Amino acid sequence: MNQQQFENFTASSLYCEKCKAAMPVRERLLLVLPDKEIFDYLCTECGTSVGRREITAGEKLLAQTTAARRPRRSVARHN
Ligand SMILES: [Zn+2]
Repeated sequence: MNQQQFENFTASSLYCEKCKAAMPVRERLLLVLPDKEIFDYLCTECGTSVGRREITAGEKLLAQTTAARRPRRSVARHN
């Protein structure tokens, strides 16, 4: 996977090898660690995992600030 390219992605669509095209993706929370969360991106067409992303505590904070403008389904947090 091209990590560098992936980091700039807003992850609304990613290249799917199975569909051979950039497809809309669905974000799925894969793993929650004390210092980061790992998200899996699934092709909405065939369900193949097309990417993975780690969001560190710092990035999460940034994302929360941005997300505060448009409410999203709240995720349970334990701290
Ligand atoms: Zn696909």
